[in-house]
Amino acid sequence: MITYEIDGTLYINMTNRCTNTCSFCIRTESKTFEYDLWLDREPEVEEIIDEIGTADKYEEVVFCGFGEPMIRLPDLIEVARHLKKINKKVRVNTNGQADLIWGRKVARELEGLVDHISISLNASNPRSYQELCSSEFGEKAHQAIIDFAIECLKYIPQVTLSVVDVIPGEEIEKCREIAEKAGTSFRVRHMQD
Ligand code: SF4
Repeated sequence: MITYEIDGTLYINMTNRCTNTCSFCIRTESKTFEYDLWLDREPEVEEIIDEIGTADKYEEVVFCGFGEPMIRLPDLIEVARHLKKINKKVRVNTNGQADLIWGRKVARELEGLVDHISISLNASNPRSYQELCSSEFGEKAHQAIIDFAIECLKYIPQVTLSVVDVIPGEEIEKCREIAEKAGTSFRVRHMQD
């Protein structure tokens, strides 16, 4: 399934690939989700745009997953251009590792195309992050995520760092402090948000 709807918002599922293997990820076999988001193959940009159409019902469209959408950055940008042509608000939900994935700072490429980026911080320090999320980039992922969020503030109107409510309250508060220091919004997500 390439697109799906939750609470009146349209979500785009471009890839099942991810640089993390989070212990709480709904992709793991033991978790359930109301839609089947496993893709037989990754859809082409044209297929995604065809499926979105004019999206008349929706104010906002979100690049999300079953995977990390920034892995397909050039395709995401093309689809976002279409979404801006049809006057949609665009959000990206990401694990924040795009600069590591692409080996360069990519936030500026989203300017004028993305209205809100929600970046999963998930832990207050590199070791806890790696224990929870198992990034293929190792412990350096944590600082890269914070740096990416700070860079996004230059180009994207709304930047949120988020955590999932599977971590202890004390850890959530430390993450809130990181977001405050970075200058982003902060959100605690329910596990399947
Ligand atoms: S970053 Fe998201 S898609 Fe990737 S493993 Fe973690 S929860 Fe799953």
